[in-house]
Amino acid sequence: MKLVTYEIENTTRIGALADGGVVELSAVAPDMLSLIERGEAGLAEARTAVEQGTPVPMDRVRLLAPIPRPRKNIVCLGMNYAAHAYESCRARGLPEKLPEHPVFFTKSPTSVNRPDGEIPLDAGLTSQLDWEVELGFVLGRTGKNISREDALGYVFGYTVINDISARDLQNRHQQFFKGKSLDGSCPMGPCIVTADELPDAGDLALSLRVNGQTMQDSRTRDLIFDIPAIIEVLSRGQTVEAGDIVSTGTPSGVGMGFDPQRWLQPGDVVEAEIERIGVLRNTVAAA
Ligand code: MG
Repeated sequence: MKLVTYEIENTTRIGALADGGVVELSAVAPDMLSLIERGEAGLAEARTAVEQGTPVPMDRVRLLAPIPRPRKNIVCLGMNYAAHAYESCRARGLPEKLPEHPVFFTKSPTSVNRPDGEIPLDAGLTSQLDWEVELGFVLGRTGKNISREDALGYVFGYTVINDISARDLQNRHQQFFKGKSLDGSCPMGPCIVTADELPDAGDLALSLRVNGQTMQDSRTRDLIFDIPAIIEVLSRGQTVEAGDIVSTGTPSGVGMGFDPQRWLQPGDVVEAEIERIGVLRNTVAAA
């Protein structure tokens, strides 16, 4: 299923994309986190509801991020594609090398944005706003010390994330949190594709365009630390919970890596796409 959170007639509901519209799943769960917590029973009810339901046309709904307000920070991987790790080192004047261990940082829950929401750009705060298309995954079960072999059994589904990054703030404040957590800097969606529908998430095409020009174009098989490795390392000695969101890192082609460097400007349209999941289409707006 392709699960969505959407607004219709001033209410927020969950549903599934079907036959060019959205089938409402409010009878199964009031929101996405509740549906995830219901586990297999919830998914089975949802599938029945989709088979029996009548879709509402897309032009009557407004999609939100599938989890509009995560309970916790979004866990992100840094430098998890080789070519991007090298371009990041070059841009910062550091020797080119690959991480020996996954690089973790987080984005604030308040940074989450709609799949077509505006990305605010406060020119008094940042002049180096950058893009990063990433495969995100959502955990469906709570666990700790999860083995690589068991890891994919903990994944509820997959989504697209654009890890919008204010490079000047990222560098100024030493750690990534501030530069990665501005309001609107985490477009997510348009849906969560449930794991049963995407058994091959380890090899998906992902790309990003700015005003129609392709900037990033790669495949998830080029991840340095794949999803089982990420779950194994993240959960070692640390509880991970159903509903947690992890963004797996971005391939090369970010604005920081260009010579001269390229930064987002008001009016730019940023499209982040992953095959079999969908497209985020966000416009940068002066704030
Ligand atoms: Mg990133």
